[in-house]
Amino acid sequence: MSGKKGSTDLYSTLISSAPGAFLAGKMGLPQPEELRRYKAGEPALPGPVIVGGEGRLVEPIRDLLSDYEFGDDSTDKFGGLVFDATGITTIEGLKQLHDFFQPLMRKMAPCARVLVIGTTPELVKKADERIAQRALEGFSRSIAKELRRGATANLLYVSPKAKNDFTGLAAPLRFFLSAKSAYVDGQVVRVDEKTAAAPADWDKPLDGKVVLVTGAARGIGATIAEVMARDGAKVIVADVPQAGDALSEVANKIGGVALALDVTASNAAEKIAETAQRFGGLDVVVHNAGITRDKMLANMDDGRWNSVLAVNLVAPKNITEGLVANGGLKEGGRVVDVSSIAGIAGNRGQTNYGASKAGVIGMVDAEAPELAKKSITINAVAPGFIETQMTAAIPLATREVGRRLNSLLQGGQTVDVAETIAFFSSPASSAVTGNTVRVCGQSLLGA
Ligand code: NAD
Repeated sequence: MSGKKGSTDLYSTLISSAPGAFLAGKMGLPQPEELRRYKAGEPALPGPVIVGGEGRLVEPIRDLLSDYEFGDDSTDKFGGLVFDATGITTIEGLKQLHDFFQPLMRKMAPCARVLVIGTTPELVKKADERIAQRALEGFSRSIAKELRRGATANLLYVSPKAKNDFTGLAAPLRFFLSAKSAYVDGQVVRVDEKTAAAPADWDKPLDGKVVLVTGAARGIGATIAEVMARDGAKVIVADVPQAGDALSEVANKIGGVALALDVTASNAAEKIAETAQRFGGLDVVVHNAGITRDKMLANMDDGRWNSVLAVNLVAPKNITEGLVANGGLKEGGRVVDVSSIAGIAGNRGQTNYGASKAGVIGMVDAEAPELAKKSITINAVAPGFIETQMTAAIPLATREVGRRLNSLLQGGQTVDVAETIAFFSSPASSAVTGNTVRVCGQSLLGA
């Protein structure tokens, strides 16, 4: 994937050699694990999965994972642990978490996955149950910080209205219990009660779908386009006319279509709809195009402020609204936005960028209920430190801090952001809307 190109993590390369690992161990230096990432044909997990808990979802979870290998008491190394905590309705009941996880903590394979399933606290009526369910967040985020060797922990909050034959859970379960979520750690995702049809092939969930990716000539956008094509989609890649050559290269590589488009143009939504119409209409729009124009606020001119807000926030808002109004985006479609941890934590010299990326999170919150009327979902990713040409240009000391200040002790790859976007884009993700998921290895920034 093109994400590798920007990677200059010399430290990780040195540490993965035998003498490097020995020295790092002696000196107490961080030892990042080489993360296990998706490869077609490989098992989703690095070992068997164990499903525990006594909630309403434990049986559906076992059914939805029927093609996974299950472990038992004799298993030495688990590839995944799933705990259905929806049955915990009191504070005392939280002890079940300790009882289940404590004996298993030393039995996890490298890059194993922990997944806690709870009930969406704000939809719970009884006070004790709501408190207990809210407590799961602190538990899951703390486990994520304790896990070593590339293992991750995340939490899914499922609507109390979800029936016990709940198909909407399949796609989020499979994403979090796979190598595709390698750099997603310590996150909380809300799943509503909508049912979902499983794709004919979980390796081609976007088969027959038409996807538009903005800002796709390079960086994260180019990798998103590659992953969408890998998953079976016809991909329209858009970028500014000046990026035409690079854009054509991306399009040719994936059998896609190049569209010269400035996302801030007033007719952007029409141009997208027209292009997509040639392929039967648009199923997914990914608003990835983004810019930075950093300056301390005291020195920031109008131009820097306006251009960043225009590209990062106004354009995705106008394009989504335009595509819904002109019917360019089909019913049952998917909108995915790209925020940033700078929009959560704030960043010195980035008042314009931080405002725009926090605005993107607000846009997801605001638009989700409206779009739901057309069965369209909207979610965002908030990348942390991702190895790209942009981050390679950061001065070494700052770069090293950015890279290591997270639970996985390394930067992410562009493919990690792309996999999360592909998960949101899947037709099977109809129960996942209104979420902003950080792809940051559980960065300490904005935690
Ligand atoms: P990049 O600069 O490598 O690529 C951005 C692409 O967007 C470029 O090809 C550019 O030509 C295009 N673009 C800019 N303005 C445009 C416009 N008006 N119309 C159409 N296309 C336009 O950046 P990247 O690192 O790949 O970032 C992609 C997205 O991820 C951005 O939204 C960025 O803010 C976000 N992000 C990146 C990181 C990171 O670590 N790289 C972290 C957090 C968020």
